[in-house]
Amino acid sequence: MKIVTILGARPQFIKAASVSREIKNQVKNGNDINEIIVHTGQHFDENMSDIFFEEMKIPKPHYSLGIRGNFQGQLTGQMIESIESVLLKEGPDWVLVYGDTNSTLAGAIAASKLNIKIAHIEAGLRSFNINMPEEINRILTDRVSSLLFCPTKVAVKNLTNEGFDYWKNNAEIVLSGDVMQDSAIFYKEFSKKPIDISIADNFVLGTIHRAENTDNPDRLRNIFNALNEIAKEKQVILPLHPRTKIALKEVSIDASNLTIINPVGYLNMIWLLDHCSLVMTDSGGLQKEAFFFEKPCIIYRDETEWIELIEYSFNFIVPAESEKILEAFKTFKPSLNYDVDLYGQGKACSLIIDKLVSSTK
Ligand code: UDP
Repeated sequence: MKIVTILGARPQFIKAASVSREIKNQVKNGNDINEIIVHTGQHFDENMSDIFFEEMKIPKPHYSLGIRGNFQGQLTGQMIESIESVLLKEGPDWVLVYGDTNSTLAGAIAASKLNIKIAHIEAGLRSFNINMPEEINRILTDRVSSLLFCPTKVAVKNLTNEGFDYWKNNAEIVLSGDVMQDSAIFYKEFSKKPIDISIADNFVLGTIHRAENTDNPDRLRNIFNALNEIAKEKQVILPLHPRTKIALKEVSIDASNLTIINPVGYLNMIWLLDHCSLVMTDSGGLQKEAFFFEKPCIIYRDETEWIELIEYSFNFIVPAESEKILEAFKTFKPSLNYDVDLYGQGKACSLIIDKLVSSTK
């Protein structure tokens, strides 16, 4: 079985690390699987890309497309063109795409036009906000995928609600669990304390990078104001996404109390997750990682794809308004009963590769 895996952005590296490791294990056990990795270049900085390949021992990409551009269409278009050439050359049985980025969509379009089957890891997630670039990418990718690996029961339900049963001869929905839990479990013992900052007890770990927050100066200011206020009480460590760094140049914001650091590698990140007292974020991945590391999480967004975490009161969602974020910080009483299986308990990767193998024969 030949698989071409399309990667491009940080969360995809973290997901692919565990899937590629499972492929290697299955090859050792005699399964005939050849994985060709394609890196589109969507994220390219050392601390947004290389560090993950090195630390997580992800196989070096066979193709680095180095796509750069300023516009969504330009980027996605160039990716489709370059991925198509790779697929024509490699002739895989499957194209494996992850999540909801432009690289995901480009891989899906290139493969579907060549009638190559697509397996989508993290299928079925919906925010029901079609203004999110990620929502567009998810919906279009799901529609042309043959194997839809859903991380949650909610994701399965979203697909059945959208009528995927109608397509059942072409598309199969599989409840696989979340490969990010596989990564959290596997890499936990390798976690590393960041060495270049001093870290107080009970610190808060924050991230901000969703376009809906970074591209809206009011929302961005509101979030920073709230975090800066919280930081008077507890240290707030904020690894800053490059997109947010650029957005901050345009907006005057008081971040004087915050411990702002460069993006960190995954091994530092899971150390921070393991030792913080609270996560505050708009990241999709971080919302679940907070749960994996048994930490409460406040989300500054209008909606979330991971609604089971809200329903179980592990996480709390607030609009990007300073007072509401501060109120949530003061009053949120999270559930502490983490003994619930929402994401497959680390078995997603083996289930996914087994399914790919059995669907290829
Ligand atoms: N992450 C990281 N270093 C950082 C910030 C995030 O390794 O400085 C990891 C985080 O632990 C999670 C993933 O990147 O596994 C989330 O990626 P991001 O928030 O960029 O994207 P999203 O999950 O929202 O799509």
